[in-house]
Amino acid sequence: MTPTDVLVVEDEPRFQRLIRFVLEAGGYRVRQAASGGECLQAVAQQFPDLLILDLMLPDLDGFEVCRRVREVSAVPIIILTAKGAEEDKVKGLRLGADDYVVKPFSAQELLARVEAVLRRSPPSHAPQGQPSFVWGDLRIDFLSHTVTVRDKQLHLSPTEYRLLHELALHSGRVLTSDELLEKVWGPSYRGEHEVLRVAVWRLRQKLEEDPPNLQFIRTIPGVGYLLGSPS
Ligand code: CA
Repeated sequence: MTPTDVLVVEDEPRFQRLIRFVLEAGGYRVRQAASGGECLQAVAQQFPDLLILDLMLPDLDGFEVCRRVREVSAVPIIILTAKGAEEDKVKGLRLGADDYVVKPFSAQELLARVEAVLRRSPPSHAPQGQPSFVWGDLRIDFLSHTVTVRDKQLHLSPTEYRLLHELALHSGRVLTSDELLEKVWGPSYRGEHEVLRVAVWRLRQKLEEDPPNLQFIRTIPGVGYLLGSPS
C-alpha cells in the first residue's frame, strides 16, 4: 500500500518538526509547505491525501488558502488554530475545512483527528442492494460517490459527502445531531453541534439553489436533521 501523503502547511520550525515527528511515527509520509503560495503549488502538483493547514502564514491568510484549495480540490483539510479562537474554527469550517486542531495539541490528539478525517475519505461503500438514492431532483450514486441535482454534478468534500450519505441512508427518519456527529465524524465529536451546523450549511449551499427554501435537508429544531419525506 502506498503511504498516505500529508502536506503540512506551517511556517514555524517548532511546529513543523513536531507535526512531522508525530505523523511519521504514525506511518504517514510528510511533505511541507512554509507558505500559502507553496501550499497551493503543492496541491496542484503533488495531489496530497490530506492537508494540515496553519491559519497564520507569512504570505496568505490560511482562510484564503483554504478557500482557494476548495476551488480546485476536495482534499481533506484540517486547520490549526490558536487556543480559544472559536470564531476561527467556525470560519475555517465554513470555508470548507473538514476539521480543526487547537494549538497547542498533543501527538495523540493530532493523530486521532488525522485518522478520523481520513476515515471519511474515501466514503463508505454502497449499502447492499441500493446502488443509488433518488429523491426529487437529487441523486446520489453510492458506487461512484457522485451527487447530482437536476443532472448537474456537485463537488462535495469528503465530510459533506459522508453527511449526505448518512442522511440518505436514513431518509424519512430524523437523525439527531449527536447521531450524525457520531456516524460521520466519530464518537469523540458528540456535542460538537457547531461543527455539524456548519457542515449542513455548506451542504445546503451546494444542494439547494435557493437555500432559504431548504428543499432537501430539513432542520428539526432542537433534535436534528431529516432528508426526504418524513415516514
Ligand atoms: Ca504560523
